Amino acid sequence: MTYYKEKSYWLSTIDHQPSEPLRGTHSADIVVIGGGYTGLSVAYHLKMFDPSLDVTLIESDVIGYGASGRNAGFVMTLFGFTLALTRFRFGKNSAKEAHHYMERAVDYTREFIEEHSLDCDFEFPGFLRVATSPALADDIQKELEFGNTIGLEGREWIDRVALYQRIQSEVFHGALFEQRCGLMHPVKYAFELKRLCEEMNVKIFEQTPATEVQLKPSVSVTTPEGIINAEKVMFATNAYSILFPSLKRKQIPVTTHIVLSRPLIDDELKPIGWEGREGIEDSRNLVHYFRLTKDNRLLMGGGNVGIPYGKEIDPDPDTEIVKQLKQRVAVLFPHLSKIEFTNTWSGPVSVPIDLAPAMGYIGDQRAVYSLGCVGHGVSMTLLNGKTAAELLLGKKSDITDTFFVNRKVIPWPPEPLRNIIAKSVCGFFKLEDRIYERTLKRK
Ligand SMILES: Cc1cc2nc3c(=O)[nH]c(=O)nc-3n(C[C@H](O)[C@H](O)[C@H](O)COP(=O)(O)OP(=O)(O)OC[C@H]3O[C@@H](n4cnc5c(N)ncnc54)[C@H](O)[C@@H]3O)c2cc1C
Repeated sequence: MTYYKEKSYWLSTIDHQPSEPLRGTHSADIVVIGGGYTGLSVAYHLKMFDPSLDVTLIESDVIGYGASGRNAGFVMTLFGFTLALTRFRFGKNSAKEAHHYMERAVDYTREFIEEHSLDCDFEFPGFLRVATSPALADDIQKELEFGNTIGLEGREWIDRVALYQRIQSEVFHGALFEQRCGLMHPVKYAFELKRLCEEMNVKIFEQTPATEVQLKPSVSVTTPEGIINAEKVMFATNAYSILFPSLKRKQIPVTTHIVLSRPLIDDELKPIGWEGREGIEDSRNLVHYFRLTKDNRLLMGGGNVGIPYGKEIDPDPDTEIVKQLKQRVAVLFPHLSKIEFTNTWSGPVSVPIDLAPAMGYIGDQRAVYSLGCVGHGVSMTLLNGKTAAELLLGKKSDITDTFFVNRKVIPWPPEPLRNIIAKSVCGFFKLEDRIYERTLKRK
C-alpha cells in the first residue's frame, strides 16, 4: 500500500508501515476521527490530561494523508486569511487575541519539538512577508502600524534596500520580518506525533475511514470492517469535513499547489543570497510561499487555487496552476528559469466562508470539531489539539475562552451556489492582486 506516497514529496521520502485497519467491535472513552496534526494533537493532549483515558484514533488513509502531509512546513503566526480580515470580521480585540493565540501556538510548537526531541528538520530562520509591488509594500506597512496600535510585537519592516541585501530578487519592495517563526519537514513531524501518541497508548488505526457517525442516543463510529462505541468523538477531518452532515456547511475544501525543484547547487544559490534561509510568503490575496528544504530544494507554492465541486475534495493537481508556479520561480529568480522540478502536488485546505478557523461543540458536549485553519494550520493545530482536548474533557481555560472557540459559523450555501460564491470571491482576489501588483502607490 503505497499510493499515498504520490500525494507529496514529503510523503514519498518516508518509509511508513501503516497500522492495521480497525476490525470488529471496539469501545473507547473518546474516538478521534482524522490522523492529521489536529487529530494527533487532540489524542496526545487527552492522554496528557488523563493517562487512564481510553483513546482511539482512526485515519481513513495514512497519518499525514491530508494537508498535514502535503504542506510547506511554515510554522507561522498568521490566523486565518489576514490580520486585516480578522479585524474586519471580529473586531480589534479579537484580532489581537487571535495573533496572541498564534504566537503561543508557534512558541508551543517549538517547545514541544524541543522537549520531545522530535526529529522533523526543525529550524528557526524567521519569516518574511514580502511585498511584490510598491502598493503592497504600503499595505504591509499599514498592517504593521495597525499591529503596533494593538500592541503586537516582534514584527519589523525591512525596506527594499535592506531586503535586497538578504534576498537578491528585483521583485521585492520590502518585507515584514518575524523572527519567531520556523520551518519543518511536515511528514516527519506528523509521524513523530504518531510515535508520541503510541507511546502514550493511544490506539491508532490507519486505512480506517469513518463511514457513519452517530451521536445519539450514544456515540458510535462505523468503519468498513468495524464499529467503535464511545463516550465522545472528535472530528479532526479538516477539509474532509464536508463528508459529515453536522459539519458539511461549516467549511469547503480548496486546493493549493506546490512545485519542488531538484537541490540547488551553490552556484545557483549564491546569486540569491538567502543566507538566513527564511520562510517567505508574499502578501497577495492568493499568496505565493517559498522556502528551501534541508537539502536546498526550492519549494514554491500557492498562487491560484482549485475549488472542487460538491463532494469532491482532493482532485489531481491542476496543470495550469503548476505551470504558473514554475513561471513564478523564473520571475523571482530569473537565473533559475530552466531549473528542473522533481515533484508537484496539491492538497486541500479547509475554508470557512469568513476565512477564519473555528472549533467547538456539536449539539451537546459529546462531539467537538476543529477546522478552517485555511493555509495556516501547522503551528495552530498543535495548540488547537490542546484546546479541543480541554473541550472534550469539559475543562475551561484561557484557551477554551478564545473568541473563535464555539463561535457562530456562517454556513456555506448548498451547491451550485457554494461553487459560484467561492469562484466569485477567488475571481475578486485575483483581480485585486493584479491591480495591486500594477499600482505604484495605494491611494
Ligand atoms: C499544499 C498545502 C500547503 C500548506 N502549507 C502550510 C504551511 O506552510 N504552513 C501552515 O501553517 N499551514 C499550511 N497548510 C495548512 C496545514 O497543512 C493545515 O492547516 C493542517 O495540516 C491541518 O491539519 P488537520 O489535522 O486539521 O487536517 P488534515 O491534515 O487534513 O487531516 C485530516 C485527516 O482526516 C482524514 N480523514 C478524512 N476523512 C476521514 C474519515 N471519514 N475517517 C477517518 N479519517 C478521515 C484525512 O485522511 C486526513 O489525514 C498547507 C496546506 C496545504 C494543503
